Amino acid sequence: MRAINPATGEVIQEYPEHGPEDVARLIARAGKAFLAWRETPFSKRAILMKSAARVLRESRGAWSRLMTMEMGKTLASAEAEADKCAWVCEYYADNAERLLAAEKTATDGSESFVRFDPLGTVLAVMPWNFPFWQVFRFAAPNLMAGNVGLLKHASNVPGCALAIEKIFMRAGFPEGVFTTLMIPGSAVEAVIRHDEVKAVTLTGSEPAGKSVAAIAGSALKKTVLELGGSDPFIVLHDADIEEAAAQAAVARCINAGQSCIAAKRFIVEEKVAERFEKAFVAAMGRLKVGDPMDRKSDLGPLARKDLLMELEGQVKRSVAAGARLALGGKRLGDKGCYYSPTVLCDVVPGNPAFEEEIFGPVGAVVRAKDASHAIELANRSRFGLGASIWTGNAEMGKVLAGRIESGAVFVNGIVKSDPRLPFGGVKASGYGRELGLYGIREFVNIKSVWVK
Ligand code: NAP
Repeated sequence: MRAINPATGEVIQEYPEHGPEDVARLIARAGKAFLAWRETPFSKRAILMKSAARVLRESRGAWSRLMTMEMGKTLASAEAEADKCAWVCEYYADNAERLLAAEKTATDGSESFVRFDPLGTVLAVMPWNFPFWQVFRFAAPNLMAGNVGLLKHASNVPGCALAIEKIFMRAGFPEGVFTTLMIPGSAVEAVIRHDEVKAVTLTGSEPAGKSVAAIAGSALKKTVLELGGSDPFIVLHDADIEEAAAQAAVARCINAGQSCIAAKRFIVEEKVAERFEKAFVAAMGRLKVGDPMDRKSDLGPLARKDLLMELEGQVKRSVAAGARLALGGKRLGDKGCYYSPTVLCDVVPGNPAFEEEIFGPVGAVVRAKDASHAIELANRSRFGLGASIWTGNAEMGKVLAGRIESGAVFVNGIVKSDPRLPFGGVKASGYGRELGLYGIREFVNIKSVWVK
C-alpha cells in the first residue's frame, strides 16, 4: 500500500500488505482475545479506553501531521479530529455501562430482563476522509461493549491505519482486541465469510456498501452502512440571511468539502435567494486554499487525484446541464490536488449537482417557491443523511424537521456528529446507527432472560 501526499503528489511511504495467512492468523488472534475481553468488567475496559484518550492527546501533534500528510486536511482540522477521538473514548468509557445496563421487564415470570451481550469479532471497513474519527467512532463504543475490532482502512491512509492500532496497544489493550488488517477491498469478502467474524460495519460509498452488504447478507451477518449524502441546507425567508450564508460556506467546505454530512444542496426561498447567493459567493470566495500544513489555509487539497478529476467532471456536467457558474470551477496550481471553492446557481432537479453526491468544495444553490416546496426539494433525493433548516422561527424549524427524510436535522446549526446522538441515514445513505444509545446497541445480542 502506498501513501501519497495529495498536497505535493509525492510518495510518503510504501507499506506491506497482509497476505491470506497473516489475515487468518490475526482473525484467530482476535477470536481468542474476545474470550477474555468479554469477561473483562466495564470498569477495566474504561480504564484502558481513557488511556487511549490520553495517548491521543499526548501525541496529538504527531497524529495530526500524519492525517494531514496522508489525506490533505488542514492541520487545525486534524488536531480537532484527534481531540474528538479522545472525547469519544472518554464518553464511552464513562457511559457504556449505563447504556448497556440490563433492562427489567414485568412478565409472568418471577423475574425477566433484557441483557446486551457482545457479539464477538466485528469488521469495520472505513474511509479516508476522517481517517481517525471514523475508526474511533466505531471502536470506542464497540470495544466498551465487549466486542473486538478488525479494521480494514482505506488504502490511501495506511499510516493512519497502523497508527490507530498503535494507540490501542500503547494504551494497554490486550493484543487482538483491536487489529488493523492491511488488505485491499478485494480481500474483504474472505474476512466477512470467516466464521469468527460476526458482523460488519462499512462507512464509504454506495457501491462498496452494496457489495459488502450483499456478501454479509449471504453469510447471514448483520451490517451497518454509513454511506453518502447530498444534505439539504434550507434557508427560509425569515432566517438571518447573512449569517446563514456565512455558515453555508463553512458547512460546504468542512474537510475541503469531503464530508458525508457537508451541506451540498442550498435550497433557498425565492424571495431571499439573490441576497443569499451574493453573500454565499462572497463567503466562499474569502476561503483560502493552500498548503494544509500552513495555519493560514482554510482548505487543503482533495485527498486523491482521481477524486479531483471526478469532481472536475461533475462541475463541467452540471454547467453543461444548465447550472450557472457563479464562482470558481477550476483546479488550482499544477502540483497537488487543489480545487477552488465553487458556487453553482440555478440548480434544478435532474442536474448532476442536484442528483449526485459532490465530494468537494462545490455548493449548489436551488431556489424554492416557499417552505413546503423547499421540503419537497430536500426530499427529492436518493440520499437521506443530514439536513439543516435556517429560520427565524425555531418552532417552525422543529415542525419542518418532522417532514424531512434524513437521519438528522439541525435547526439553525450545521449538521455534526456527537457521541451522545445517534448518527446514520435513510434511503441510499445507508441503515443502522453509530453513536449514542442506538449505536452502541447495534452489535450486541439483545438477549431476553426469563426466570420462574
Ligand atoms: P469507498 O471507495 O467506498 O471506500 C470506503 C472503504 O471501503 C475503503 O476502505 C475501501 O477500501 C473499501 N471498499 C471499497 N470498495 C469495496 C468493496 N467492493 N468491497 C469491500 N470494501 C471496499 O469510499 P471513499 O471514497 O473512501 O469515501 C467516500 C464515500 O464515503 C462518500 O460517498 C462519503 O459520503 C462516504 N462517507 C460516509 C460517511 C457516513 O458516516 N455516512 C462518512 C464518511 C464518508 P480501498 O480504499 O482499499 O478501496
